Amino acid sequence: MTYDDNNIFAKILRGEMPAHKIYEDDETFAFLDIMPRSKGHSLVIPKTPAINMLDVAPDDLCTLIRTVQRLAPVIVEAMGADGFMIQQFNGAPAGQMVFHIHFHIVPRYIDVPLKHAASDMEQEDILATNADKIRTAVETRLK
Ligand code: AMP
Repeated sequence: MTYDDNNIFAKILRGEMPAHKIYEDDETFAFLDIMPRSKGHSLVIPKTPAINMLDVAPDDLCTLIRTVQRLAPVIVEAMGADGFMIQQFNGAPAGQMVFHIHFHIVPRYIDVPLKHAASDMEQEDILATNADKIRTAVETRLK
């Protein structure tokens, strides 16, 4: 399989598709999942093209997971969550739907079950409000 420059996340990186951005640096980009499994479900991607864990350059993977580690507690705090789950799928049989490597940061809330993956499209205004909260926390905690 070769990397498809027209996958959704590549288009988001090029600004050809909208996204509720929550964080960006020179190497990585993070935004809200539009079909969240929980409130504040976020995705972190590298700016370099890579399909999955086997395809990504080790240094890029380190940079990517570093952003995941920095962002996760900020998202948890901003959303008032009780913990978080990290997900990362490799290959369609494993559940990968977008073939640009990404880590899911899924906030968890006591007694709130997870929704199924990519089941319900979230309302735009709710995504905008949540992204705003996380961006504010990022400004305070990460800058
Ligand atoms: P995966 O199964 O790990 O490939 O997950 C892909 C994720 O991308 C799913 O959770 C989708 O809800 C999410 N997704 C698909 N299209 C978009 C989009 N345009 N903006 C944000 N998230 C998206």
